[in-house]
Amino acid sequence: MSEQLRPQPRPGVLQIAAYVPGDDRSAAARVFKLSSNETPLGPSPRAIEAYRANAEHLHVYPEGSSRILRDAIAAANGLNPARIVCGNGSDELLTLIAQTYLEPGDEAVYSQHGFLVYRIAILAAGGVPVVAPERDETADVDAILAAVTPRTKIVYLANPNNPTGTYLPFSEVKRLHAGLPGRVLLVLDAAYAEYVRRNDYSSGLELAAEADNVVMTRTFSKIFGLANLRLGWAYGPLHVVDALNRTRGPFNVTGPALAAGTAAVSDRAHIEAAVDHNARWLEWLTREIAGLGLRVTPSVGNFVLIHFPEEPAAGAPEADRFLRERGYVLRRVAGYGLPHALRMTVGSEEANRGVVAALADFLGRA
Ligand SMILES: *Cc1c(COP(=O)(O)O)cnc(C)c1O
Repeated sequence: MSEQLRPQPRPGVLQIAAYVPGDDRSAAARVFKLSSNETPLGPSPRAIEAYRANAEHLHVYPEGSSRILRDAIAAANGLNPARIVCGNGSDELLTLIAQTYLEPGDEAVYSQHGFLVYRIAILAAGGVPVVAPERDETADVDAILAAVTPRTKIVYLANPNNPTGTYLPFSEVKRLHAGLPGRVLLVLDAAYAEYVRRNDYSSGLELAAEADNVVMTRTFSKIFGLANLRLGWAYGPLHVVDALNRTRGPFNVTGPALAAGTAAVSDRAHIEAAVDHNARWLEWLTREIAGLGLRVTPSVGNFVLIHFPEEPAAGAPEADRFLRERGYVLRRVAGYGLPHALRMTVGSEEANRGVVAALADFLGRA
């Protein structure tokens, strides 16, 4: 059959470079997966227990509105549960937002090293991705505003951003919002919000509570340690929540995910332990790796972006191979326009110390 006669995806689909997830490929006897920003502490034991108990009900459809989870999230954060929509990972919600708000040819803006799911979501919806340059590996409000045109429908901002780990203070997020036309939906992706310890940071909850054109997304994949269950949520104005409830799948969140997520949000002690572990080792890694002579982008998340020289023998691909052989699997980020960097998730003490020792070996050898 000729190519013209077979079914054709819309043109944007073939422009998509499929997302490459972090892997754990290594021949080493012990492998430390530091490639997807998963927590070294795992989930709350209460979440595991709730997940197991749900195994009795696998033949029954889940409750379709994620009510128990929305109530638990609302209680933990002081929110109105009617303004929350849960998703199969926040990736689903980010994608659903594009599908719900973009018409073919509409533009959506994200920043230069912004999370790649935005680009995929925009193209899959028939939209046009518009990339705003960053400054110092940080989103630049003026550049984002300058990229807005009469066709712009969505601005995606990861705050903090992955893979850079940098963030915008809330004053800058508010300035961005103030500069956007009311018809543009500002999507604040706060996947790493729980880790941030800065007085001038906000996940954007206040803005999503007040404004008619702001939605904030959160995930259970990072600090809550439930990446394998696929669970996220969005908070925004009722009209946005209503639109997303019309376009989402009727049973988009599974019962085991609802049960585990509901148990996880109320386990404050587990969250605090994860925040403390991260704060300690983020600082340690940043200092130790910089001490080896490698530039580290200042991060407020649970990962660090490490920059390598552009020389072939001492570069990021060689470092990736060297570390992998020793069981430390980091993430290449060339797809983010960062071919000379590797992203490392803050791991267990053993993993963190192991990577720093291996990096010292690598640099001594190179
Ligand atoms: C990890 C991550 C997410 C979370 O995705 P899930 O689909 O909820 O697992 C969202 N945004 C950013 C920027 C991330 O790094």
